[in-house]
Amino acid sequence: MFKIALTAGHYKYTAGKRCLKKLDKNETREWVLNNRIADKIEERLAEYQGYSLLRTDDTTGETAIELEDRIAAANRFGADVYISIHHNAGIAGGNGGGIVAYTYTKVGEATKEWQRELYEALIAATGLKGNRAQPLATANLAECRDTAMPAVLLELGFMDSATDVPVILSEDYADACAEAIVSVLVRRGGLVQKPVSNALYLVQAGAFRDKANAEKLVKALKAKGFDAIIKRGGSEG
Ligand SMILES: [Zn+2]
Repeated sequence: MFKIALTAGHYKYTAGKRCLKKLDKNETREWVLNNRIADKIEERLAEYQGYSLLRTDDTTGETAIELEDRIAAANRFGADVYISIHHNAGIAGGNGGGIVAYTYTKVGEATKEWQRELYEALIAATGLKGNRAQPLATANLAECRDTAMPAVLLELGFMDSATDVPVILSEDYADACAEAIVSVLVRRGGLVQKPVSNALYLVQAGAFRDKANAEKLVKALKAKGFDAIIKRGGSEG
């Protein structure tokens, strides 16, 4: 069972963490953007099996969960990876910015691989390349430092960049980020797609000129996780 710890940075009422007013009249809060992507990750993961997920934030956004509590929860859970979703600031209305993936300053190869793969998948999906400094960044961040598993903090665009804001506010961008992050979790965690449903497929043998093809179809459906049987007889007797 692959264990994932996921956290949406901050909470609904964190002071100051929001989009620049002149770029977004709603001054969308960072938590709203972070949580939207974390929720989409959760939704997409539900299509897979072979993992368990712990959200270490309050998913309603009503309670501020301290970083040390988020870290302790992930450590107790014994997570295999820790992913923290954030959005950046520091451009003051200028252009550029893009995505930056952080790890702690001293990390092993496994953590670097997570960082690189997450960043590359995100850039391939969104095109929002980090263009202000090294986008595979390191910093002395508690969430990356004190977690006992590979931990990556993703800054998914700048909330005060004239070029990033219209992108990061869009639903399509949030979908693409979630898709990219899940693709890496699926690959690295060895997750497999759940059978689409428990529907029973009745393969009408009489509909096939060669009955062997009906059997082949049943076999192919079963290989994909569907339940299927051959229905013999039927309209053609
Ligand atoms: Zn943040």
